Amino acid sequence: MWMKLIYPKWPKLPEQTEFHLPPHGPINFAANVPNDVHLTFHDENREELDLEDKPDVVALSVMLTCATPRAKEIAMAYRARGIPVIAGGIAVAIHKEEMAAACDSVFLGEVEGHFGEMLADLRKKTLKKVYDRMAQLPPIESVRPARRDILDYANYTYRGVRMADLVHASRGCRFNCPPCSVAYLGGRCFRPRPIETVVEEVKGIDNGRLFFVDNSLAQDKAWELELFKALKPLKRKWIAHPIEADDEVLQAAYEAGAWYVYQAVTDVNDQIRRRIQMYKDHGIGVEGTIILGTDDQTKDDVLRLIDFCLEMDLDMAEFTVMTPFLHTPYRTQVEAEGRVLHDNWIDYTTGKVVFQPKHMTPTELQDLYYMAWDRFYGTDGRQTKMARLFRKVVQRERAEGTTTMPDGTVRGWVKP
Ligand code: SF4
Repeated sequence: MWMKLIYPKWPKLPEQTEFHLPPHGPINFAANVPNDVHLTFHDENREELDLEDKPDVVALSVMLTCATPRAKEIAMAYRARGIPVIAGGIAVAIHKEEMAAACDSVFLGEVEGHFGEMLADLRKKTLKKVYDRMAQLPPIESVRPARRDILDYANYTYRGVRMADLVHASRGCRFNCPPCSVAYLGGRCFRPRPIETVVEEVKGIDNGRLFFVDNSLAQDKAWELELFKALKPLKRKWIAHPIEADDEVLQAAYEAGAWYVYQAVTDVNDQIRRRIQMYKDHGIGVEGTIILGTDDQTKDDVLRLIDFCLEMDLDMAEFTVMTPFLHTPYRTQVEAEGRVLHDNWIDYTTGKVVFQPKHMTPTELQDLYYMAWDRFYGTDGRQTKMARLFRKVVQRERAEGTTTMPDGTVRGWVKP
């Protein structure tokens, strides 16, 4: 059986730095596809898609809301020629009814231990419309190393240099922030993978630079310390979402190879100021993630927030506008208040205003969004700031006697 795994394209934020990371969802799914299935992977963000071929089945891996319109187009094109289409991924779980209507079958939830039933039905031509396993989270121990062998790494370079490989050490999150659907997808629980399996997976990745795509590592101090201790001998450099703002944890993170973290900058206050300063004091870079247009922000608040990012001298900043994604606490609220402007999912990129902000007009918020990018990056430009972050990691690698080559391989790493 030939299964054509497709990652449909989505509109990129033109303001963001242009570099391409390999995806994580499809390679995680692929680890659950048995070897007797001939699996090919096609990332439409990086390559032209051939919609005229004849695989036995098309599997769509859909991560973002703004990728669902294209996913539905692809499904229609194949189904019109009698080729079955199945779909899974975060955005499929979030848009289950419309994705189920567009495809032969959808899988909802985490795939480990559950895909066998769908595949057996596919072989027997008795596919059900929906395989809903959202309430049956698989044991975290069953997560296998992702299948990176299906990736064409030539697609994932920045100026000829291979970018970071994505990996995860945990799933879930114990928080429930207003703009986030993680609680809907996995319940409010943090599920760390056994550290030895994370270490095994990292050892198998032929790249000196990684990105831990966990929602947030700042969930359990003891676990963080244990994880960082285990990662340290592997001499990789890595990016992550937030880490506990604690001197002991940050020191351990730095020694384990923390390169830079994404840190939400929600407000101008001493707590965030202290947190950013702590990262810097420990030699860890910071890319701020800043949501503009939250209900507590006036225009002046947004301007102060932009100034604050400059004042804190963040290494990078990513500005987005508040977006009422389905199955988030914020969506429930703005829907009840009649403030959703439209549900054209292609515009749910976080770069376009799709709701009525509380303290300004949609146009004013849109203008502030453009101004934030322009003011923060100014004449320096995004490429220059990115180059500075790269210089930091290269200097550290040299000091530690390792070098990440342009093809990603690590020189000087001696297996402990
Ligand atoms: S935004 Fe981050 S910390 Fe908040 S609920 Fe979502 S994943 Fe958890």
